[in-house]
Amino acid sequence: MEGPILDKRSPAVLLDHGSGGRASRRLVEELLLPHLKNDLLDRMDDAAVLQAGGARLAFTTDSYVVDPIFFPGGDIGMLAVHGTINDLAMAGARPVALSAGLILEEGLPLADLERIVASMAKAAANAGVPIATGDTKVVARGAADKIFINTAGIGLVPDGVDVSGHHGRAGDCVILSGPIAEHGVAILSTRAGLSFASSCRSDSAPLAGLVADMLAACPSIHSLRDPTRGGLAATLNELASQSHVRIDIDETAIPVSEAAASACEILGIDPLHLANEGVLVALVPEPGAVAVVDTMRAHPYGRQARIIGRVLEGEPIVVMKTVIGGKRIVSVPSGQPLPRIC
Ligand code: MG
Repeated sequence: MEGPILDKRSPAVLLDHGSGGRASRRLVEELLLPHLKNDLLDRMDDAAVLQAGGARLAFTTDSYVVDPIFFPGGDIGMLAVHGTINDLAMAGARPVALSAGLILEEGLPLADLERIVASMAKAAANAGVPIATGDTKVVARGAADKIFINTAGIGLVPDGVDVSGHHGRAGDCVILSGPIAEHGVAILSTRAGLSFASSCRSDSAPLAGLVADMLAACPSIHSLRDPTRGGLAATLNELASQSHVRIDIDETAIPVSEAAASACEILGIDPLHLANEGVLVALVPEPGAVAVVDTMRAHPYGRQARIIGRVLEGEPIVVMKTVIGGKRIVSVPSGQPLPRIC
């Protein structure tokens, strides 16, 4: 039985509170939400959707503290731009503009800063979303680690689109856009110096274009979410609990590259628990699901899209049919801190 989060055994913030698993969820639900509670925040989707002058505006923010700041397939700047674009896209929104707040540690080489800012500019230009406002702060050596970036974003939700983690319904198909665990493995293997995983690169990518194509194929998509911190396991559990449904998935349908799978085995980590930065999960009404998958496969970021499971009536749990034919409950990662993965 877990005690209250503010008990005497853990009077301070732990790294695990930032890992995207059970401890993160408890921090938000038991300490943050009781104070900050309101109708917009209580939805707990990737972006809030506000009514503004007749339009529906999606609004989101995210902070990036990834270590190392440069990694195979990307860097902290690219990640900060893509991550916020993706949180807007997961509300079905077309991104309009981003903000960027930089927190710099004294001693950060200016060449590193320039490389990161150039990468942010390139990512924003490629996605067609301007960085419209920003802020820069510098703190003393040791008061931060090299560079932290906060990005916020606004987007417009098209008429007729109503996507939320609360909208999953029994009968929906669960669609996954591509192979999982690549970002998490790229970060962890760089930290651990595992050369055998060198073919794993972060999948960091902007998914708004893919989402726009998916909504054109099926405007009634119920839910979208990018399985970042906490991985596919945390995301599916969030959707099950927000929509009060059971989600059944099939392990043989979930793509994991050979390199990522062997890295996970050696690191003793479940690929379902590892962060992705260019992958999405969709809950789609069955009649539109095949059209959505076909559309996704025609897009560069959805070539390996497939249906990996079904939404059922029942307790909010996630059940996976394993490769050997058994069934297991997919739990939210806990007690396994993977700090500073994004
Ligand atoms: Mg997200």
